[in-house]
Amino acid sequence: MEIKIIGGGLAGVEAAHQIARMGGRAVIYEMRPHNTTPAHKTSMLSELVCSNSLKSKELTNAHGLLKEEMRLINSIVMEAARATSIPGGKALVVDREKFSRYITDKIFENPLIKVMREEIKEIPAGPVIIATGPLTSEALTEKIISITGSKNLYFYDAISPIIDGDSIDFNHAFYATRYRDDSSDYLNCPLTEEEYDRFYNALLEADKVSPRPFEGIPYFEGCLPIEVMASRGKQTLLYGPMKPVGIIDRRTKKEPFAVVQLRREDTEGKMFNMVGFQTKLTYKEQERVFRLIPGLKNARFLRYGSIHRNTYINAPKLLNKSLQLKSNKEIFFAGQITGVEGYCESSAMGIIAGLSALCFIKGIEFIPPPPETCIGALIEYITTERKDFQPMNINFGILKGYNRRRKNKVIENALKTIEDWYNKIEDIIS
Ligand SMILES: Cc1cc2nc3c(=O)[nH]c(=O)nc-3n(C[C@H](O)[C@H](O)[C@H](O)COP(=O)(O)OP(=O)(O)OC[C@H]3O[C@@H](n4cnc5c(N)ncnc54)[C@H](O)[C@@H]3O)c2cc1C
Repeated sequence: MEIKIIGGGLAGVEAAHQIARMGGRAVIYEMRPHNTTPAHKTSMLSELVCSNSLKSKELTNAHGLLKEEMRLINSIVMEAARATSIPGGKALVVDREKFSRYITDKIFENPLIKVMREEIKEIPAGPVIIATGPLTSEALTEKIISITGSKNLYFYDAISPIIDGDSIDFNHAFYATRYRDDSSDYLNCPLTEEEYDRFYNALLEADKVSPRPFEGIPYFEGCLPIEVMASRGKQTLLYGPMKPVGIIDRRTKKEPFAVVQLRREDTEGKMFNMVGFQTKLTYKEQERVFRLIPGLKNARFLRYGSIHRNTYINAPKLLNKSLQLKSNKEIFFAGQITGVEGYCESSAMGIIAGLSALCFIKGIEFIPPPPETCIGALIEYITTERKDFQPMNINFGILKGYNRRRKNKVIENALKTIEDWYNKIEDIIS
């Protein structure tokens, strides 16, 4: 039986490659060149739509560790990236043309994979993997809505930065929930009027990312970028995300002039989300301006804020850990549409969906990689119920058992675990 894969992007090719590696058959449906997305420019499979960097290649960086895990489990994206890399310092940078050509040729040469140049407008009978990415065509988007419900498909991500808990100054920041100082739901960074003025002026002057022509994002009032709110007047933030009412500063015993609230992203308090700080400031400016907030002077950013055009599903509600739709086990999702963010993260979800779909047709129970690995941690993140699900890139904060003091051990364990996991899957399937 052939597994149908809709979308020949990073995730789609990974899924097909893994299926074929394990002796299965796949057919990729790719709509380009007849139809294209607003960001793709070529007809090649696995096109990099923006940067030609696949981020850090250092093992001590979560992006580097994810890549090494992918390499160990025979990722075609990693194989192509190594084969077509160009100098880029600590980052894995590729010649984008050669990179996509390498993958396109490999996929076309593979006798177990067929490629159909066709836009899919109806979800076909399964097993099928939907890997159509952040710019899924309109007709298919409609069909996805019909199976997920409109409330469970998002078209934009409005992301607030996530800060590493270890980098927050707890001499300044304190736990309290509005009108309740006995609760540790929020971490508060209070500002005096002088500190607020300094922050406010820096925010107004900071460099922003200019939207691409197709990214005319209709901002919703409840979700405006922090700098847009600020541009409406000095008082706006004080009545919005920085309002101090109901918060008593532990040190002064008074209500501060302004307050930035951070919400836990995990039970251990390794990661904190800056509430209401969705932004289009450049990454560099986010570091400069947000570090002006007392308590965040040395903040390490695990995820930067952003606002993008992005089609993604409410994975925690819809998918199980095999990346299978809970309501229809013949439909799998892969890539950025599952709510991960980034080239490598999307590719990794392609590997998983491919192996999972193959296990499904063989009647084998699929066991996802453990959350102590980067790939397993991404699956855990996107399939765990949470308030306001937002896309996530890999970072050590989501890796189970991560501890900075035991970093080398954690890395070693992740690599061994992913290799063992893959060998086991290979054994079961063959
Ligand atoms: C504008 C933009 C810039 C980005 N820049 C970066 C970056 O610099 N670095 C980074 O790490 N991440 C970036 N991302 C995020 C993300 O990592 C990439 O979008 C990545 O390509 C996602 O991989 P994917 O396989 O999920 O989707 P894609 O690589 O987009 O693949 C999806 C494929 O599905 C096809 N398709 C869509 N609908 C249909 C249909 N109905 N029938 C058949 N085929 C269809 C598309 O043509 C496409 O080839 C960016 C995203 C966007 C939108």
